[in-house]
Amino acid sequence: MNYTSILENEDNKRIILVRIGEIALKGLNRSNFEKNLGKNLRKKLKDVGDPDIHWSQSRFYIVPKAQPFDYKKATETAGSVFGVVSTSVALCCRSDYGEIKKTALLAAAEKIEALKASGKRGPIKFKVETRRGAKNFPMTSPEISCELGGELLDAFPELTVDVNDPDFILFCEVREESFLYTDITKAKGGMPIGSNGKACLLLSGGIDSPVAGYMISKRGVKICAVHFFSYPYTSERAKEKVLELAKIISTYCGEIRVMVVPYTDVQLAIHQNCRDELGTVIMRRSMMRIAEELARRNGCAALVTGESIGQVASQTMQAMYCTDAAANMPVFRPLIAMDKVDVIAIAREIGTFETSTLPYEDCCTVFTPKHPKTRPSLEEVIAEEARYDYEKLEREAVAGVEVFVCG
Ligand code: ATP
Ligand code: MG
Repeated sequence: MNYTSILENEDNKRIILVRIGEIALKGLNRSNFEKNLGKNLRKKLKDVGDPDIHWSQSRFYIVPKAQPFDYKKATETAGSVFGVVSTSVALCCRSDYGEIKKTALLAAAEKIEALKASGKRGPIKFKVETRRGAKNFPMTSPEISCELGGELLDAFPELTVDVNDPDFILFCEVREESFLYTDITKAKGGMPIGSNGKACLLLSGGIDSPVAGYMISKRGVKICAVHFFSYPYTSERAKEKVLELAKIISTYCGEIRVMVVPYTDVQLAIHQNCRDELGTVIMRRSMMRIAEELARRNGCAALVTGESIGQVASQTMQAMYCTDAAANMPVFRPLIAMDKVDVIAIAREIGTFETSTLPYEDCCTVFTPKHPKTRPSLEEVIAEEARYDYEKLEREAVAGVEVFVCG
């Protein structure tokens, strides 16, 4: 990173520090992860002033090209990129004690003003924390903290030092340049999209599957999606709802290719030929086979669903065993041990809940048996499944896929 560029002009003195998490631990793969994350950050910040993004010593630096720059929006945007653990808006200066002092006073003044504006009265407790990365700097970290603390006490009569319970911490980092800041904003965490391969999400219009897609993406997995669509039993609006959900999660997961599978004939065949109580499991097995074929064609190494144990009859261990036996790829279920209320909380946080609860039918609900078997055996399911020509129907379904790119 070319540090001098940060300080080239006045406008660049306020920057955003972007801290990364687990990536730093990834040894050999590290540079790939960094590249991925840098690319994701650049892409997302394009619409937020398109700042320069520098990388140095396990950090990214967001450096505005011009002012005014929307720091709040940029912080939020960077914080929603998977792989980022926290951010700070920081003032940057040359690593020279006189400059550091001046900048520290400015950072403290801004924080004190903000605290007062939010209703803080009386004495304000603070402490200084210094990290010295530049080992050639003539003062040690404790010396810098101590000196700066003294300067702040002299400059602001309302301040008192309290190292145990401060109202704010002035962070001072002395590197090639120095950074002064008072706030650390927690970000989403996870790993950068694309750093852990690609998987295919079975995306219904419900609450769970968009959350499952979000969660697997958070671990760095790029996703595409398959939706089973049973027109006219499910309406065009149900399809639009699914595409809208894909669009919402694409703000986190990146662009999503959604493959809409014409599923009516398969469902009708199951309904007409197979015992009602096994209908759901048989349908889910056919979904797995179709999804796996599409996953393979899209370079995916796994399937992802929004199932959670015991949620409905098809989500018992025995039913999921029968379902998984139809797939050769691993089937990941990020929500497997979660309660619905917790899934809903995430759906609200990521903005999918309202769309998910729009009242359009999903294909699963159209032919739901009254008494689905909760403990089907694989043998009976396979025997029952042989009563219709699933291979032909599934081939036709795959051939009829309609592709949308969301995000
Ligand atoms: P969700 O809340 O995500 O709709 P659900 O509560 O409706 O799930 P099921 O109908 O049993 O539960 O579906 C379980 C999982 O199967 C879903 O989370 C999703 O991954 C997948 N799935 C269900 N219906 C469809 C569909 N029409 N298209 C693609 N995937 C589906
Ligand atoms: Mg569900």
